[in-house]
Amino acid sequence: MKPFCTLRSNLRNAFLFSLISLALSSSALQAEGAASETVHLRGGVFRLTGTMANSTALSGADGTLLVDSGQNETEAKAMLAAIQTAGLGPVDYLVNTHRHYDHVAGNAVFGSGGAAIIATPSVRESLATNPILPNVPLLPSVALPSICFDKELTLFFDGEVVSLYHPQGPAHTEGDLVVYFRHADVLATGDILFWGMYPYIDPAGSAPGMATALREVAAMIDGNTIVVPGHGPLTDRKGLLLAADMLEDVSQTVARLAAEGKTLPEIIAAHPSARWDEAFGKGFMSPDNFVQLVYNTLPANTGKAK
Ligand SMILES: [Zn+2]
Repeated sequence: MKPFCTLRSNLRNAFLFSLISLALSSSALQAEGAASETVHLRGGVFRLTGTMANSTALSGADGTLLVDSGQNETEAKAMLAAIQTAGLGPVDYLVNTHRHYDHVAGNAVFGSGGAAIIATPSVRESLATNPILPNVPLLPSVALPSICFDKELTLFFDGEVVSLYHPQGPAHTEGDLVVYFRHADVLATGDILFWGMYPYIDPAGSAPGMATALREVAAMIDGNTIVVPGHGPLTDRKGLLLAADMLEDVSQTVARLAAEGKTLPEIIAAHPSARWDEAFGKGFMSPDNFVQLVYNTLPANTGKAK
């Protein structure tokens, strides 16, 4: 594993500050409170309500597998209570779709309860060496992923075939994974997909990278698949592909304007996202902020090879 870069970490923290500010001022991403309920989707798969990021669970005779642990321990405990209230089995596995705090902050609640935590190697590296938010302690060891894989991992659990897949990246971050419950035909995307809103993109990610990841994942599913995005309401393969179209179109337009020598204020003034604002521009991130984020994560502006 590569040593962690301090400069990149500071940059990441700066972006996370921005994300937190956006999230706290937003109604679209606000947590509904500490209460959570299970809502059946299909087969043995449920979603959990009341959390800032979407969490999904598989339950059956073997126990429960949970995808993402909430933005804090309050959300995690609410989800655990909802799972217990619904009579579902103990959480044996917790999957982290990526390293952002709103998907991992509740890890200790489930790890201390005996769940094995699964993630990509870079997620474990990041959580072991960097606070998930500025000025908070590192997560305890019980909250760290203990099972890591590079590209693909298949779990046979509760009669399901659960495919964990790391799409080509960097996408939303450098270490995203999706969870596909093959029998139930439900896909939990993590944050490579925000539905009904412009997405946040980590400084380690990029808009074209997210689009590439979405198209890669779209090839795994069909029109009947229930798609659970990282944030926003349920959607399907068409929604996933529409988000990929949006990301490609906006990033290509922004890159072209930048190549023509336009400054960021000039690019924002040109409204390169205009045709997508009706569908994506009413969430926590304004069209102008999204254009700025796309610009900042263009390979030419991050200094990183993509
Ligand atoms: Zn995220």
